[in-house]
Amino acid sequence: MSQPLNFKQELTCVFGQPISENPSQCMMEAAFKDKGLEWRYQSIEVAPENLEQAVGGLRAMGFRGANLTIPHKVEVIQYLDGVSEAAAMMGAVNTIVRKGDQLIGENTDGKGFVQSLKELSDPQGKKIVMFGAGGAARAIGVETALEGATEITIVNRSAERGEALVALLKEKTGVSASFVLWEGDYVVTDDVDVVINATSIGLFPDVDAVFPIDFSSLKPNMIVSDVIPNPPQTHLLREAAKVGCQTLDGLGMLVNQGVIGFQLWTGVDPDPKVMRAALEDVFGV
Ligand code: NDP
Repeated sequence: MSQPLNFKQELTCVFGQPISENPSQCMMEAAFKDKGLEWRYQSIEVAPENLEQAVGGLRAMGFRGANLTIPHKVEVIQYLDGVSEAAAMMGAVNTIVRKGDQLIGENTDGKGFVQSLKELSDPQGKKIVMFGAGGAARAIGVETALEGATEITIVNRSAERGEALVALLKEKTGVSASFVLWEGDYVVTDDVDVVINATSIGLFPDVDAVFPIDFSSLKPNMIVSDVIPNPPQTHLLREAAKVGCQTLDGLGMLVNQGVIGFQLWTGVDPDPKVMRAALEDVFGV
């Protein structure tokens, strides 16, 4: 940075991730540079017991916003001045935005996924099968339901989390949702439009993980997507492409949630291509 930073206006931060080679930091700083913005995105690791003080520090120092990751996404809500409707439905915040002197919680993960999906097809009227019931699945489930998906089947290894997500989706969005316990290779029915992996299967270093699905049940008219950003080409996506399915990788979701955060903080539209290139560089794609 050639010019001194104005701390009141030019800092964003991310809580909870190791500082070195943070992909989001690389992606955001590339986008700031590309748009000629003298902003910084700092990776700051915060222990759970220090979260309240960290949010206080963010307020005191005039940070424009923050991203948060596990384990802070739920706990942070009590220290904020409000949350968006979608973040309230999910009960989780991954983005903080300063609005005047208030800190408001947003959740851009599901919106980022929907943005990626819309590049291929509108979620409106779609029948979705989603593997996983954690934070990513919750965000994607809520946002696809709000966008008009007609039916969502949650397939999860543990019944408790899967059933809890189905209950949340039905209660908060009114979508038709059901739970299937994940045992053996899951068989996708012919009427499914979109298949989503929202589990951590395939995430580095577990790059050779085999995805438990009956690949012969996939059809070329289905869209198959994966939340795993690193490596972007997972076993699920490789096999789905062989069948002829259209595929969406986790880098698209990561870029799009970043685009939304960038817009919320700066009011400027970043270039998603610059952001994706920065991530590909970090992940060595
Ligand atoms: P959580 O820990 O909240 O949830 C993990 C989910 O994966 C659970 O449903 C868990 O099942 C399931 N799971 C994990 N391992 C296995 C396995 N071996 N077999 C079957 N199911 C398994 O994590 P998140 O939801 O926060 O994150 C999930 C993934 O999404 C991560 O890899 C993360 O990197 C990615 N992600 C990507 C984003 C992007 O922008 N591309 C944004 C956010 C997350 P169970 O309930 O039975 O334990």
